[in-house]
Amino acid sequence: MLISVILLFLIIVFTFYSKSKYFIYYTKYIFPVYKNTIGRICNIIPYSIFQWLVIVLVIVLVYLLIKKRKAVVPYLLSLFLIYTLTCGSMYNRQDLHVSSKEITQEQIDALATLIMEKINALDYQPLSLDEIIELSPQVMNNLEEGYYPKPKKIIGSKYMSYFGITGIYSPFTIEANIDIDTPLYSIPFCCCHELSHLNGYMKEEQANFNAYKACVESNIPYFEYSAYMQIISKLSNYASFKITVPEYLYNDLQEGIDYWNDHEGTLSDLEDQVNDTYLKANNDQGTVSYGQLIYDLIEYYCID
Ligand SMILES: [Zn+2]
Repeated sequence: MLISVILLFLIIVFTFYSKSKYFIYYTKYIFPVYKNTIGRICNIIPYSIFQWLVIVLVIVLVYLLIKKRKAVVPYLLSLFLIYTLTCGSMYNRQDLHVSSKEITQEQIDALATLIMEKINALDYQPLSLDEIIELSPQVMNNLEEGYYPKPKKIIGSKYMSYFGITGIYSPFTIEANIDIDTPLYSIPFCCCHELSHLNGYMKEEQANFNAYKACVESNIPYFEYSAYMQIISKLSNYASFKITVPEYLYNDLQEGIDYWNDHEGTLSDLEDQVNDTYLKANNDQGTVSYGQLIYDLIEYYCID
């Protein structure tokens, strides 16, 4: 009983503290300790520890429910406290700029034209999955210096896609877990997106913008291509003109559309709803916030 009260007290205090301006000290000095300790240790094993840990945590919960009911509440609160410290509280960061200026149709069109010019000027060779995983920490380090563990392959990636999930940040093992079954061109962006979460950018729009910047500033053409592909598929919904793409790019886009059509259904609809509710509960704007990348890029490229 006493343990439960203490854990609950810590969770409440920390949740309120994370909305204060002093939280920047936690973000700057304490949060990076997790990836430098737990993250480094878990990096020794090349496959996701998180996916097995989830199973163990559920087995422990079932055992406690049957054998030691008194321990269930402290157990769940302990997990929630860890989550609050290594993930949940970072949703309330007040120190990050969010682009919120009104944008015009002309600016969206100019962005679409600019991205197409950049794609057409790219001379890229696809990388292998292992090369992408190997390079991702370095790409993120170029954007923001620090230690980054390698993204981890999820063994059941194929099944993860049925939930519409391309990656998961693990708050318990500080791992960036990647769905490796998705089209290869989307994986560099996904690795950088998950590593951004691990670096304290928890909101989806923050992680997307960070991943985009890391990829396009990497000087690695396939990473740049991956970022442009992310935005061009969004821009095709918003530009006032029909974006004409070269054949190789059309084939890649079509591969992505076909892949997600094959994996769509009840599970991904359910996942959308769960994810939307989860993001809203964490002060995010819900899944509609994914369009924020367009606002951010208009500011990033200084399009007036
Ligand atoms: Zn994410």
